[in-house]
Amino acid sequence: SSSSSTRLDLDGNSIKPITICIIGAGGFIGSHLCEKLMLQTPHKVIALDVYKNKLKHLLEPETLPWNNRFEFHRLNVKNDSRLEGLIKTADLVINLAAICTPADYNTRPLDTIYSNFIDAIPVVKYCSENNKRLVHFSTCEVYGKTIGSFLPKDSPLRQDPAYYMLKEDESPCIFGPIEKQRWSYACAKQLIERLIYGEGDENGLEFTIVRPFNWIGPRMDFIPSVDGPSEGVPRVLACFSNNLLRGEPLKLVDGGESQRTYLYIKDAIEAVLLMIENPARANGKIFNVGNPNNEVTVRELAEMMIKVYSKVSGDQPLETPTVDVSSKEFYGEGYDDSDKRIPDMTIINKQLGWNPKTSLEDLLESTLTYQHKDIC
Ligand code: NAD
Ligand code: UDP
Repeated sequence: SSSSSTRLDLDGNSIKPITICIIGAGGFIGSHLCEKLMLQTPHKVIALDVYKNKLKHLLEPETLPWNNRFEFHRLNVKNDSRLEGLIKTADLVINLAAICTPADYNTRPLDTIYSNFIDAIPVVKYCSENNKRLVHFSTCEVYGKTIGSFLPKDSPLRQDPAYYMLKEDESPCIFGPIEKQRWSYACAKQLIERLIYGEGDENGLEFTIVRPFNWIGPRMDFIPSVDGPSEGVPRVLACFSNNLLRGEPLKLVDGGESQRTYLYIKDAIEAVLLMIENPARANGKIFNVGNPNNEVTVRELAEMMIKVYSKVSGDQPLETPTVDVSSKEFYGEGYDDSDKRIPDMTIINKQLGWNPKTSLEDLLESTLTYQHKDIC
C-alpha cells in the first residue's frame, strides 16, 4: 500500500511490511497493540489467545479494511501443537501471554510460575531454532523492592535516586523470602529473562525484553460480574473503577503507601511500535517502559480517581470515599509489595528516542470516561 512505502524507521530506511505473531493478543496490551498495527501500519498480525472479547472491534464486521492482515486463532500455548507452525510463518514473535494479576501470585503460585516461566520456554525455543526475532514481555516487578526500602524510614538517603531509581543494566533484583509467595511471579519472569538473554548470548537469538511499569487505560482487566467473572481480584485500576461504579469506598491495602508510576497505554504502544520497526536499535536490549513523571502513592491514585470519576459521572463522592484494609485480608497469606517504582529512561530514550507524554490526570480522565460510557 502507499502508506508502507512512505513510512521510515529511525535511521531513515523505509519499513517493509512484516508478519507478526502476537501471543496473548487478546489481553489488555495485546488489544491495543493489534489496534495500532491495524490502524497505522501495513503489517500483518497472527493473533493467538484463549479469549478474543477485547479484539471484537478488530474482527467484526467482516468488511473491515484490514480483513486480510489480521487473523485470530484460539489457542492455549500450554498444549497446542499448532504453535511452532504459526511461529514459523511469522517474521517476529511478541509474547504477552501470562498470568499477571497480583491476587494470583500468592494464591496460585504454581499456575503463576508455570504460566510465566514453563509455558514461555517453547516460545523461546521455537524462536531460537527457527531464527525468529522475539519481543518478550517481562515486568518492572523483576526489580522487586528498592535498596532504599531497607534504610531506616527517616534516612535522608531515601531521597537519593541512587537508592530507588531502577536501571536495566545496574539495579539488582530484590525479592522477599519464599514464604512470601507474591514473588513467584517476579522470580519466574526473572528466570525467563535470563533464559532469553542466554539464548541470545549462546545461540544468537535476536530478542528484545520489555519491562512495563504499570501501563493503564481502557480495556484493562475486568470489572467483576460486569465484563468478567464475579470472583477474583483484578489490578488496582479495575478494583478502584469497580468500587466507584458500585458506589463503594475504595480499599487501600496496608494504608495505600506504596508508590507507583503510571503510563498511559497509548504512549506505551508507541514505544512497542518503535521496537518492532527498529530491530537494529532494539535487539539485545532490555527496556524499562514507564512514566517517571506520573508517580503517586496508591492513596493519591485513589483520591485522583474519586475526583475524576465524580467529574465524569456527575455523581457526588461518598462521605467516606476510602477504607483501609490489611493485605492479609485483601490478598491472603504470602502477599508482599514493591515499595516504589521509578524507571530510569536513559536506555529507551537513547536507543529509540521515546518519551512518555500523557499526565496521570489526563490518562485517568480518558480511561474513566471510556469505562463510564462502556458500562453505564
Ligand atoms: P492480560 O492478562 O490482559 O493479557 C494476557 C493475555 O494472555 C490474556 O488475554 C490471556 O488470555 C493470555 N494468555 C494467558 N495464558 C495463555 C495461554 N496459556 N495461552 C494463550 N493465551 C494466554 O495482561 P496485560 O496487562 O496485557 O499483560 C501482558 C504482558 O505484559 C504480561 O506478560 C504481563 O506480565 C506483562 N506486564 C504488563 C504490565 C501492565 O502494566 N499491564 C505490567 C508488567 C508486566
Ligand atoms: N491495591 C490497593 N487496593 C486495591 C487493589 C490494589 O490498595 O483495591 C494496591 C496494591 O496493594 C499495590 C498497588 O495497589 O500496592 C498496585 O496494585 P496492582 O494490582 O495494580 O499491581 P502491582 O502494581 O503491585 O503490580
